[in-house]
Amino acid sequence: MNKKTVQKNKMHVAIIGGGMAGLSAAAALAEEGIQISLFEAGPHFGGRARSVAIEFNSQTFQVDNGQHILLGAYEETLKLLAKVGVDEKTAFLRLPLALNMLSARNKQNFKLNCANFLPHPFNQLLGFLFCQGLSFSERISAILFMARLKKISYRLSSDEPLKNFLLKNGQSHLIINVLWEPLCLAALNTPIELASSKVFLNVLRDAFSYHKTDSDFLLPKLDLSQILSTPIARYLQTKDAHLYTNKRIRNIQPSQNGFQVSTRLETLEFSHVIIATAARKLKELTADLPKLDFVTSQTEQYDDQPIYTIYLQYPNTTVLAQPMLGLVGSTSQWVFDRGQLCGQHGLMAVVISAQGKHQKLSQDMLALKVAQELHHVFPHLQKPLWHKVIAEKRATFSCSVNLPRPANLTPYPNLFLAGDYTYADYPATIEGSVRSGLACANLILK
Ligand SMILES: Cc1cc2nc3c(=O)[nH]c(=O)nc-3n(C[C@H](O)[C@H](O)[C@H](O)COP(=O)(O)OP(=O)(O)OC[C@H]3O[C@@H](n4cnc5c(N)ncnc54)[C@H](O)[C@@H]3O)c2cc1C
Repeated sequence: MNKKTVQKNKMHVAIIGGGMAGLSAAAALAEEGIQISLFEAGPHFGGRARSVAIEFNSQTFQVDNGQHILLGAYEETLKLLAKVGVDEKTAFLRLPLALNMLSARNKQNFKLNCANFLPHPFNQLLGFLFCQGLSFSERISAILFMARLKKISYRLSSDEPLKNFLLKNGQSHLIINVLWEPLCLAALNTPIELASSKVFLNVLRDAFSYHKTDSDFLLPKLDLSQILSTPIARYLQTKDAHLYTNKRIRNIQPSQNGFQVSTRLETLEFSHVIIATAARKLKELTADLPKLDFVTSQTEQYDDQPIYTIYLQYPNTTVLAQPMLGLVGSTSQWVFDRGQLCGQHGLMAVVISAQGKHQKLSQDMLALKVAQELHHVFPHLQKPLWHKVIAEKRATFSCSVNLPRPANLTPYPNLFLAGDYTYADYPATIEGSVRSGLACANLILK
C-alpha cells in the first residue's frame, strides 16, 4: 500500500446534513474511496429540495416541497447527476431561454424568445431586439445594459440594491417589472429593493456569457427526490458509505484524533467533519467550537425568505399554452403545468417567492386568491377541484447587499462548512450547495 492509500484508509469523514451540499460532498469523497458517514436529522435525504406526498380523496400525489428550476449553467449539479446515473432527458425538460410574462392587469404581455437558430450571443441580441411588450428605446436600453455588463465582466466594485443599480443603468420601471424583477425573485428569492446586485450579476454572467445552452431552463419531469437525493443515496450505497436518516447530530467536540460527534444516544469519533446544514442551524451545532463564533455571529444575522407553492388541481383535461408561464402584477409569480412536465394532468403549481402580503393570508384564502388570478388570466381555468399550499417559510437566506458569506475552511483543521450560504458567488441554489460540497471534498482530498 502506498502512503496515500494508508492515509485514505485512516480517514473517516462525518458529513452532517443530507441536503444537496452534504450529498455532493459525500459523493465526491466516496468516489475517491474515502470512508464517510452521512447524518441526516430528517426522515429523508434532500433537505430543501425534496418531494412530499399530498393526499386528496384517499389518493396520494407526489409533488415537490417547491417547484425547482435548474439552469443549463448548473454544471456541477448536472455532472453529479450524470455520475450517479440520472439520465438528463428522463429527468428534465430542457427549454431554451424564453420568457412569457402575462399581465394580470390586461396590459401588454412581455415575451422574450431567443433566436435559437443563431450562435451565441446573437441569439440573445435578436431576442432582446424583437421582444414584445417593450418600446423600441426600452429594448435598446436592455441591449446596451447587457453589453455594459459584459464589458465590466459582470463585476461591480461595490454592492448595492438591485433596483437602484437597474434604475441607474437606464432600465425603465416597465422593464424592471416584466423582466428584471421576476428574474431576481426566481434566482435570488429576495425582494429587488434588497437584493445584491453583485450576486445577481454572477447569475447573469453564468447564464448569459459563455455557452448558448447555459441559459436553458431545466424543469423537473420527475419528483425532486427521484432526480436528486434517491439516485445519489443509491450511488453512495454502492460505495459502502454509511448513510443515516433520523439521526440528528447534537454536538461536535475537537478530540485527539479529530472530532467527537454526538447524537442523543452515542458519541462517534471521526478524522474530519463537514457541517452541511442550513446557515441557521450552525450555532446550535457548534456550541463547543468557540473558534467558529465569528462565523455564527455572521450567520445569525441572516434573514430568511419564504417560498410558497400553491398546487391547484383542475380537471385532468386542463392544459396551459406552455409548461411554465410568468405572471406580472399579481400575487402569483409563475405557474407550472405539471401535466406537461410530470404527467400530473390538470395540476398547476403556482410559485410565490420572497416576502410579501400573501404571508398574512390563511392558506385557504391564498389558494382562493391565486385561483381567481389564474382564472382572470386563463379564463378556462375554472374552480380547482382541490388545493394544497406548501409554505416553506425559511426557504432560503435573504441574498441581500454585502451579505457576509463564510468560507469552507474553518480555523479548526479538518472541519469544513458546506451549504448554499457558503458558495459566495451564488444565491441559495442547488448549484451553490453542490459546489460547496465539492469544495469541502476537494479540501479534504488535497
Ligand atoms: C421551495 C423552494 C424552492 C426552491 N427553488 C429553487 C430553484 O428553483 N432552483 C434552485 O437552484 N434552488 C432552489 N431552492 C434552493 C435550494 O433548494 C437550496 O438552496 C438547496 O437545496 C440547499 O441545500 P443545502 O444542502 O445547502 O441545505 P439543506 O437543503 O437545508 O440541507 C441541510 C440538511 O441538514 C439537515 N440537518 C440540519 N441540522 C442537522 C443536524 N443537527 N444533524 C443532521 N442533519 C441536520 C437538514 O435536515 C437538511 O436536510 C429552493 C428552495 C426551496 C425551499
